Amino acid sequence: MNFGFAIDTRACIGCHACSIACKSENQVPLGVDRTWVKSTETGRYPEVRRDFQVTRCNHCANPPCVRICPVTAMYQRDDGIVEFDPDVCIGCKGCMQACPYDAIHIDPASGCAAKCHFCAHRVERGQEPACVVVCPTHSIIAGDMDDPGSELSRVLARNSVTVRKPEQGTSPKLFYIDGHDVSMHPTAVAREPAGMAFSDVRPRHAGEPPRPVRLDLGPGPALKTADSGTPIRTPQAQGEPAGGPIQVGASSPAGQMSQVAWNAQHLVPWHWPVPAYLVTKAIAAGLFGALSLGAGFGLWPVTTSALVAGGGLAVLMLLATTALLVIDLERPERFLRIVLRPQWRSWIARGAVVLIGLSSVGGLWWALETGTALGWLDGDLVEHLRPPLAWVTLPLSVMAAIYTAFLFAQCEGRDLWQTPLLPVHMLVQSVVAGSAALLVLTPLGWIGPELAEVGRVGLAGGLAASLFVLFAGEFTIPHASELAARAARDIVAGRYRWPFWGGAVALGHVAAGILLLPAMTWAGALAGLCALVGLTLYEHAFVMAPQDQPNS
Ligand code: SF4
Repeated sequence: MNFGFAIDTRACIGCHACSIACKSENQVPLGVDRTWVKSTETGRYPEVRRDFQVTRCNHCANPPCVRICPVTAMYQRDDGIVEFDPDVCIGCKGCMQACPYDAIHIDPASGCAAKCHFCAHRVERGQEPACVVVCPTHSIIAGDMDDPGSELSRVLARNSVTVRKPEQGTSPKLFYIDGHDVSMHPTAVAREPAGMAFSDVRPRHAGEPPRPVRLDLGPGPALKTADSGTPIRTPQAQGEPAGGPIQVGASSPAGQMSQVAWNAQHLVPWHWPVPAYLVTKAIAAGLFGALSLGAGFGLWPVTTSALVAGGGLAVLMLLATTALLVIDLERPERFLRIVLRPQWRSWIARGAVVLIGLSSVGGLWWALETGTALGWLDGDLVEHLRPPLAWVTLPLSVMAAIYTAFLFAQCEGRDLWQTPLLPVHMLVQSVVAGSAALLVLTPLGWIGPELAEVGRVGLAGGLAASLFVLFAGEFTIPHASELAARAARDIVAGRYRWPFWGGAVALGHVAAGILLLPAMTWAGALAGLCALVGLTLYEHAFVMAPQDQPNS
């Protein structure tokens, strides 16, 4: 069996009965939707039309939400239904980042991920999903695509159909008959910077109230061409009235009553704990990396006091990293499930193992060095153990630095995070963060001049490499998709331009670089602080901007 849906948009009258039936059948709380009817208006008065698009999980044949789930709470059944288990979910919100269609939300009642599940409980009883039964125009057809005699198979054989975002490679199994391009394309009706009347496709931040009606008296937007260069099929091409999403005249009173789209709003899943975790993790990985290269490979001398101070700060940062990850869970009391019932294709689960490994080995190393410094342990024994501990710590540090790049790559709903440069950039960021932390510790007198010089050279080199990656790579190369380009534009010229230019570039790179010039201890410490603040602001922009882009 292979269940799927067809939506006949020619028949849909936009009555929202399917949305209400879904709410009733599945006890969906207020404020969130498992299925909704997106409406768009196109044309130029008086020749306008409104299109409806029943929108929900596509039950993809190749579902990225399942791959990223660290605990198998999101899973694909043998009959093709993508199902979720609220008794298992830890509320990490990875599936929301992975879904390129905004199909998943956090259920406010349970704190767990939820979405359309094809009314699996009804299907198992031989019944159709509630939305199919209630639809007065039979616009929703559900069935087994493997059965050539099913109504769905016959409908799919007779009609030409489209899916949302086929370029994502997820193989959606929700097919639209006569789907309208303006509805299918998430940004086609985005009006910048004001948003739309009655709705706004931009995701909403936590605590932000639903956006009120906006009266936009400016000229209405022309039908957009995707930044990626992919033209949107125009209504004229379909023999429809001229114009894109409805045109609002600059001085027309009627313009104040116009709306061009209605869509469900979606909450931004990840907030400040995620950028903060990226910084604490980078500091820990960078510090342990520098200490390992010195103590295990003899690249530079490392004193016991440097191992105690540097290792202690690294352990502290790892503890903070773990705390931030747990805080960000909607069900923090379930966090141990990541290791107790892991799903090994998920980089959230793999990353947890890396962090546990680095915390264990690095923590043991630091405890032994501290024990020696306090005179509790035999110094010769620790001297013998130091190289092997450093040899194991170094690869764990590198993995801790870069694994998030692979985790972000699994977030297929965030196109800007798909950059192939991300592992390199995260390694460079760890060099910057670890070097900066060494310089901040230097005035305390525990680091020693040789390691302080390593920090200076590491920070200078790391900042130069980081600038190169930023401006010769991440933000200047053509972006693979319109959503990636929009997120990059938001960072360099939009909502996040101040954190980026003022924080990441001016403070984190230019000011930090200038402060490195005098070769003075206090100036180096200040340079380290500037670099760390700049890195934090950069991570904030890089994590938040892609989440502001609409996916439905
Ligand atoms: Fe549904 Fe989104 Fe998962 Fe596809 S990726 S199966 S649309 S939740």
